[in-house]
Amino acid sequence: ATPVALLAGTGRGAQLGIMIRGAQTLERARAIGTIIMDKTGTITSGEMNVTSVDPVAGGDRDELVRIAGALERPSEHPIAQAISRRAADAGALPAAEHFINLPGRGVSALIEGREALAGNQLLLQERGISIPEGLGRAVEDGNAQGQTVILVAWDGQARGAIAVSDTIKPTSKAAIAQMKKLGLRTVMLTGDNERAAQAIAEGLDIDEVHANVLPADKVAVVAAAQEAGRGQKSGQVAMVGDGVNDAAALTQADLGIAMGSGTDAAIAASDITLMRSDLMLAADAVRLSRRTLSIIK
Ligand code: ADP
Ligand code: MG
Repeated sequence: ATPVALLAGTGRGAQLGIMIRGAQTLERARAIGTIIMDKTGTITSGEMNVTSVDPVAGGDRDELVRIAGALERPSEHPIAQAISRRAADAGALPAAEHFINLPGRGVSALIEGREALAGNQLLLQERGISIPEGLGRAVEDGNAQGQTVILVAWDGQARGAIAVSDTIKPTSKAAIAQMKKLGLRTVMLTGDNERAAQAIAEGLDIDEVHANVLPADKVAVVAAAQEAGRGQKSGQVAMVGDGVNDAAALTQADLGIAMGSGTDAAIAASDITLMRSDLMLAADAVRLSRRTLSIIK
């Protein structure tokens, strides 16, 4: 490959809003056949809203929101921001002491002397807190609609569920269609539950979904796809993400693509940064690398 053609490709990328780190990036990314995308903040906007609040039988709804809001206030997770924003609208929130962030699970803290938790079923199970039937149903119903349902517990007992929902970015569907036109196998990766993930993937016609993936396991999903492609003509793997959670997977991928709105960690781990947080630019980046290299050949 001539350096001139690679530089021209890099310059064309900049015009399109695709910032490419180093001219060699395009050359290395010539055989991408699979594109793995993070769900929250990449395919979806990541700006979540609370859609329902369900206290357990006999529980106090306002108290549930207040404790959950206090718990989630120190967290930067999109789920946490939705819950704490909603709670702050309803009134002042108590302080969270000994706050702990539990990646892929939720959060814990001491609120007004009570040991409190907010997170998924896995988190409550690990703490030996049983989930009453009514709450289990609230989780199932919400998930079936593509919502993420957070369980809240304090003093060793489940107290209720809060559902949050995200919206698919307006261009995601067209971008995935574009990727398929390029012959790419499309894969969605998320720490969220299976049903919520399926509900989103179905509407977008995504080929493959990996749900309940803990942050540390995202890199293994990328490595497995690379292993499956070894020796094949289009065996390379691109990864698109935005979170701190995605950084290791972005580094592992043959082409790491960070959303412009992403965290510094994701951007630092990537070969390409998209100036607009639009998945269409990720498809454009793959097309650009192919076009640049066919000009070179
Ligand atoms: P994603 O891959 O969608 O960004 P994460 O790995 O960040 O997902 O989170 C996976 C799951 O862990 C969430 O769907 C949620 O159930 C739970 N979780 C993570 N952070 C929080 C939090 N701050 N509050 C409640 N639940 C959380
Ligand atoms: Mg994300």
